[in-house]
Amino acid sequence: MRLSQYPIANLKEVPAEAEVISHQLMLRAGLIRRLSAGQYTWLPMGLRVLRKVETIVREEMDRAGALEILMPTTQPAELWMESGRWGQFGPELLRFKDRHQREYVYGPTHEEVVTDLARRELHSYRQLPVNFYQIQLKFRDEVRPRFGVMRAREFLMKDAYSFHLDEACLQRGYAAMYRAYTAIFTRMGLTFRAVQADTGSIGGTGSQEFHVLADSGEDAIAFSDGDDYAANVEKAEAMAPATPRGPATRPVTDIDTPRTKTIETLTALLACTAATVLKTLVVDGEDGQLVALCLRGDHELNAIKAQKLPGVANPLHLAAPERILEVIGCEPGFIGPVGLAARGVKVFADHSAAALADFVCGANRKDVHLSGVNWGRDLPEPIITDLRNVVDGDPSPTGTGQLRLVRGIEVGHIFQLGQKYSATMKATVLDDQGKDAVPFMGCYGIGVTRVVAAAIEQNHDERGIVWPEPIAPYQVVVVPLNAARSPRVSEVAEKLYAQLQAAGVEVLIDDRDARPGVKFADAELWGIPHRVVVAERGLEAGTLEYRHRRASDNEAMPLEGALAFLQERIGR
Ligand code: ATP
Ligand code: MG
Repeated sequence: MRLSQYPIANLKEVPAEAEVISHQLMLRAGLIRRLSAGQYTWLPMGLRVLRKVETIVREEMDRAGALEILMPTTQPAELWMESGRWGQFGPELLRFKDRHQREYVYGPTHEEVVTDLARRELHSYRQLPVNFYQIQLKFRDEVRPRFGVMRAREFLMKDAYSFHLDEACLQRGYAAMYRAYTAIFTRMGLTFRAVQADTGSIGGTGSQEFHVLADSGEDAIAFSDGDDYAANVEKAEAMAPATPRGPATRPVTDIDTPRTKTIETLTALLACTAATVLKTLVVDGEDGQLVALCLRGDHELNAIKAQKLPGVANPLHLAAPERILEVIGCEPGFIGPVGLAARGVKVFADHSAAALADFVCGANRKDVHLSGVNWGRDLPEPIITDLRNVVDGDPSPTGTGQLRLVRGIEVGHIFQLGQKYSATMKATVLDDQGKDAVPFMGCYGIGVTRVVAAAIEQNHDERGIVWPEPIAPYQVVVVPLNAARSPRVSEVAEKLYAQLQAAGVEVLIDDRDARPGVKFADAELWGIPHRVVVAERGLEAGTLEYRHRRASDNEAMPLEGALAFLQERIGR
């Protein structure tokens, strides 16, 4: 492509709307433009990257034996009523009516449509296993669309759905997708990690997420430094402390703690550490009751774990202050577990909180805390469970090594669905005995547009994007300097451009009438891996200047044999 004919200019200023670096760089380098909240147009330079990501995904899905289809973006609501998700999905589901007042949804995912396809087309066990996939736009009315295409409302997803006669076959299909995903993200040149994931309300036996590692990632992931255990922090198990609870040695004592409603102010006032304090969170129960969740002061509640506890409302919801006042007789900030059982409040404690002795907690009276409190002596033993997020240095649940925390961006998810959709939507097949069998399903997603942003989060520097070569929009940029004054510069650059194109290299020529500094800055912002500068000075010596986007110095490159030199570098 000739930059003289390219209509979109790079932006010098960092757009105020963009919080994260990938969003800033995607706007500055003209990869995307915002239409409305969470909706983006892909411009030519960005679309080339997106297409490359798509091609790698498609090739590896095909190689794994999956079959590409294309389902409609809009779906009749009846299918969602049939599966039960019409009622379960909240406002994230975009619903609308056609001219006949028939209800529709814009697909946020396609389990219903693909299961409908399966029940019409698959009748015999002989047709199984099968894996159908598509690369299709989705719409999810996210509460907080942000970070550009990273959490958009409309985005491109590769979604695949497999059907198997039995669970063992599902597991083989799932393992094949694990391998395909590993091949996909490896080929893209990304540093990634597969981690165990929460299976949500669907349950199911297995689920893993693929994360591109980046400090800016929305997800925390924990992995063991002793073996290959890795899990999303949402899911990672926190073990009971190795040392058991100590004996009770002190009496319960009131302490005046005026206006001391947080762990920080409390520990400052008492000159103690947060690890000796018990914090109590009050949440709504399933049945209108309140439930207390106790954690050590230095630990964080894990909402995913908490909302699965018997009697706790799912999704988790903190109790309203008025309700706490009504049931416990005190405002939040001074709540503690002593006396709660008598008020009908169920008390859960995290393993570490249950291991505390002589601890400090709220007194359920304004401006008062208690010290020297002991489970079993001053209040009943709590229901002990895993309630908290793991922290760096926790023992690995496998028993080998310690957990380390890193941040990641979820780019893919593989999931053993089981019979949920095939059973409710009656997508049965005949087995080899001629009996009806309900197939086992798996589903497998990749956020194709999110991958592009994640790749930038992981690969950039202060000058711009540093694309991994397999997904760069162009491989080479040829930059003639001051060509207007030097016919020879222009001639050499044009010849090299033509040669590269003929050789099938994806090449840009910066034939704009612009200053060298502008050309260099743009090439670096775009992150084109290989740059060749054609300048009068070098030509006299029979050389061109070569620089890789990751290198900090130029290399002289022979004018004769320039094509071979570049092909060798591209092949590396
Ligand atoms: P998240 O937890 O990030 O909301 P999810 O669990 O809702 O993701 P899935 O339903 O498993 O995601 O969708 C498959 C893939 O689609 C995800 O792994 C992610 O890469 C991508 N994805 C999901 N939501 C969005 C979004 N709002 N914008 C861009 N990509 C998304
Ligand atoms: Mg989501």
